[in-house]
Amino acid sequence: MKREWELLHTPGPTPIPPSVDRAMSQPIIGHRGQKCKDLLKEMTPRLKTVFGSSQDVQLITGSGTSALEAAVVNTTSPGDEVIVVVAGAFGERFAKICNTYELTVHQIDVEWGKAVQPEAVEAVLKQHPDTKAVFVTHCETSTGVMHPVEEIAQRVHKLSEALVIVDGVSSIGGAKIDMEQSGIDFLVSGSQKAMMLPPGLAFAAIGKRAWEVIHQNDRPRFYLDLKTYDKKLQDGQTPFTPALSLLFGLEEVLNLIEEEGLEHVYERHQLMKRMTREACKALHLPLFVSDEDASCTVTAIKPETFEAEQLRKIANEEFGLLLAGGQQHLKGQIFRIGHMGYSRPANVLQYISVLEIVLKRVGHEFEAGAGTAAAQEVYLTAARELV
Ligand SMILES: *Cc1c(COP(=O)(O)O)cnc(C)c1O
Repeated sequence: MKREWELLHTPGPTPIPPSVDRAMSQPIIGHRGQKCKDLLKEMTPRLKTVFGSSQDVQLITGSGTSALEAAVVNTTSPGDEVIVVVAGAFGERFAKICNTYELTVHQIDVEWGKAVQPEAVEAVLKQHPDTKAVFVTHCETSTGVMHPVEEIAQRVHKLSEALVIVDGVSSIGGAKIDMEQSGIDFLVSGSQKAMMLPPGLAFAAIGKRAWEVIHQNDRPRFYLDLKTYDKKLQDGQTPFTPALSLLFGLEEVLNLIEEEGLEHVYERHQLMKRMTREACKALHLPLFVSDEDASCTVTAIKPETFEAEQLRKIANEEFGLLLAGGQQHLKGQIFRIGHMGYSRPANVLQYISVLEIVLKRVGHEFEAGAGTAAAQEVYLTAARELV
């Protein structure tokens, strides 16, 4: 029974809105039939808006990593020089994929918990002017940092022809990003984070310059060959059987986003970020990331007076509240709260209040109610329409 009342606040997967659940239970249709074509054709322009992209967004059946891999295999050839920003587990994943595909990787290592300085990318680019692509994570989910990808894109384009390829898996649908304006060439996302869907669908928004590179690139590829995705999408199809139920769900997700308004979606995430962070400060919980570098979709906390894993265990056992732990060297060092997608200020008030009880259990000292009060205060001073 517990699964039915679990409070899922990991930074992916995330909870699914009931109307999206209902949409996904529609009967399966033929993926080469007119209905599926109509569905894809109808969703394509709407998805472009969510990605701030002038080009169609390609849909890949696979987890987010499939689109990261697609970005690498389609835009690069063995031996190409690339820059990869590594400031956490997902930056590391990008670097691993690049190494797997025999690229010459210039890695920019940033302390986990900090955002990369755009100047650092500029400096490495000046040292390696033949760089073909710069890979950077938008929200580094493992640390709760939001990297300044738009500024990086602008600076890279001033200096070179390198493509800017961004992992937006845990930010698209939660954090504002404008591909077109900032000149991001390739923007990847996945279904199970702020896009409010189950895992299994990946997105690739590809700008004009990146398409030119992709068309000229003769590296062999098959399932992830984006040229075939684009060709098929012109006809309202995908090259292989799509995750149909997820497509039904996606249509409803787009309805929800449009009904709320994209700007409002972004503001709601900012509000949840501030509520969570101010509550942590009032509860004397050390935030792992500065206010400036912090993500609006995930918050990481580095406790000093108790074990992060003990807190997570009690939260789960007593309240069914699921929080994420740390990855790699941060395992046991931090815990992370996801507040993205189907998450609202009322959910923040709920998990902060629950956290207070759990903090008492682990012997952390604070004034009872201080976290909830701080979150309420942030809420009350924000615009009333942001419920
Ligand atoms: C979740 C996530 C991914 C993709 O993970 P999958 O398990 O392949 O879906 C990639 N990048 C970031 C930043 C993520 O948060």
